[in-house]
Amino acid sequence: MEGMLKPGSLEGKTIIVTGGGTGLGRSMGKYFLQLGARLVIASRKLDVLQQAARDLEAETGGKVLALACDIRKYEDVEKMIADSEAAFGAVHGILNNAAGNFISPTERLSHRAFDTIVDIVLKGTYNVALAAGKNWIERKQPGVFLNIVTTYAWTGSGYVVPSACSKAGVLALTRSLAVEWAKYKIRSNAIAPGPFPTEGAWSRLLPGDLAKKFDPAQRVPLKRVGEHQELANLAAYLMSDYSAYVNGEVITIDGGEWLRSGGEFSDLEHIPDALWDQMEKARQRTS
Ligand code: NAP
Repeated sequence: MEGMLKPGSLEGKTIIVTGGGTGLGRSMGKYFLQLGARLVIASRKLDVLQQAARDLEAETGGKVLALACDIRKYEDVEKMIADSEAAFGAVHGILNNAAGNFISPTERLSHRAFDTIVDIVLKGTYNVALAAGKNWIERKQPGVFLNIVTTYAWTGSGYVVPSACSKAGVLALTRSLAVEWAKYKIRSNAIAPGPFPTEGAWSRLLPGDLAKKFDPAQRVPLKRVGEHQELANLAAYLMSDYSAYVNGEVITIDGGEWLRSGGEFSDLEHIPDALWDQMEKARQRTS
C-alpha cells in the first residue's frame, strides 16, 4: 500500500499526535512526516517517545519532537502546546489518538478502572481540544482537529463500556466543535477505524489464544484487517488543506465490519453453496 497524497502536501504544518510513539499514532505520524510536516509526538512514556522520534527521523528525514504529556492533566496539555510552539513556531493540526481500554465484563470493573478510561479517552481529548482551541482562537490561527474514535461510538459495545461511553463523547465533541468553532477556521473531524493490528489493541487487549479465537478479520466482510497505510492516507487527507470543506464528519474505515454486525441475516454467509442450491430448488417448487 502506497501513500496517497502528493509529496509536500503537509509542508509547513506542525502536527501534534497524542499517543504518537506507538501503534496507529506512530504510523499516521510517519506519513505526516513523509508529506513534509513537522511532528510532535506526546504521551506518558518519554523513553518510548524518544526512541520513536529517533527512528522516525531516520526513516523519513523529518523533524520530530518527543514530549512527555499525560493528557488527563490540563497543565501537561498546555505545556505540550507551548513547547511545540517554542520548537516549531506554531501548531496547525492535532491528532487526538491517545486512548486506553479494558476488555472486561462491566460488573468486574472497579469505579476507578472506569474512571481511568474515561479520564484518558474523553477527558484527555477535551483537555487537548480546549487548550489548543483557546490558543488558536487567541492567536487568530486556523487549526484542524482529527479525533480517532471507534465504530462502537455509535452502536455501543458490551465488554468495553468505559471506552464506548468515552468514544461516544469524543464523537459529540467533534461534531459540536465543528459547528461552534468553524467561525474561527477550526475544523473538527473524526475517523472510526475497524480492526488494525497493533500491540495496544490486540496483543495486550486479547492475549494468547483469545486473539486467534476472536480473529477480527473473520468479522469483516472484506475478510481482512486494515493496513496502517490505509488509515494514514485518510488521516493525512483530513489533516491537509485538500479536505478544507470537510468539517464535522466521521469517516469509517473498517471493511464494512460494523454494518455487517447490524444486518440480521449477515451470518448467512456461513451457509454453503450446496444448501443455497437446495433452498433455491425448494423455492422453485413452491412458486
Ligand atoms: P496503542 O499503541 O496502545 O496507542 C495508545 C497510545 O495512547 C499509546 O501511545 C499511549 O502511550 C497513549 N496514551 C495512553 N494513555 C495516555 C495518557 N494518559 N496521556 C497521553 N497518552 C496516553 O493503541 P492503537 O491501537 O495504536 O490505538 C490508537 C487509537 O486508535 C486509539 O484511539 C484507539 O482507540 C483507536 N482504535 C484502534 C483500533 C485498532 O484496531 N488498533 C481500532 C479502533 C480504534 P503512553 O503509554 O506512552 O502514554
